[in-house]
Amino acid sequence: MLDTVLHVAFRSGNNETVDEILKHAPELLVWDNSNGDTPLHVAAKAGHIATLKKLLQFILHTNGRRSLFAFLGHVNNQGNIMLHEAIISGIGAEIFQHLQEINHDNDDDDNESGTTRSHVFKRHWIHLEDEHGRGPLHYAALKGYHEGVVLLLGQCMKCCIKWDRYGCLPIHLASCGGHVEVVKLLLHSCFDSIEMLHIFGRNILQWKA
Ligand SMILES: [Zn+2]
Repeated sequence: MLDTVLHVAFRSGNNETVDEILKHAPELLVWDNSNGDTPLHVAAKAGHIATLKKLLQFILHTNGRRSLFAFLGHVNNQGNIMLHEAIISGIGAEIFQHLQEINHDNDDDDNESGTTRSHVFKRHWIHLEDEHGRGPLHYAALKGYHEGVVLLLGQCMKCCIKWDRYGCLPIHLASCGGHVEVVKLLLHSCFDSIEMLHIFGRNILQWKA
């Protein structure tokens, strides 16, 4: 795999090296390796939380939110955005939490009202989709990431009725992974009325049959 020096530094989680590179060659941040991974993907795959947080802060403070969205939405050759790789490597909840903190930290430093900006940011990062039509909640459900599912549902309940390209809801993916607690959580949070069960329950049962 063809990596830049930043990919190598991020894979190793060496923060001193990362600092040096960001100081002297920040343009390397936008370079993909041969797998279409940005340095963000590499750090997420390796599960380096501190390195990932450092990079997110760096992008936000040097280039602003718009640029951060662009980075977060970058898809690699497997069709995964960085958030999905973070969930797969088991650090999804920490990264979700960090994005929330960034959100609150920056509510005051914009011309728009904090509320408006906060809303826009939330809408962006939790609704980023990959080429499979899956967002963070699909992946958190698939991995049985209970804490992540709680956090995401706290931001937007409607995500639990978002179908991916294969006709799966997050609850189908949780069910597929055998994550009973996440299935219960999604069931109780999103499918609590008879009408909802009538509309969606049939599909949940069919999918498992
Ligand atoms: Zn949503």
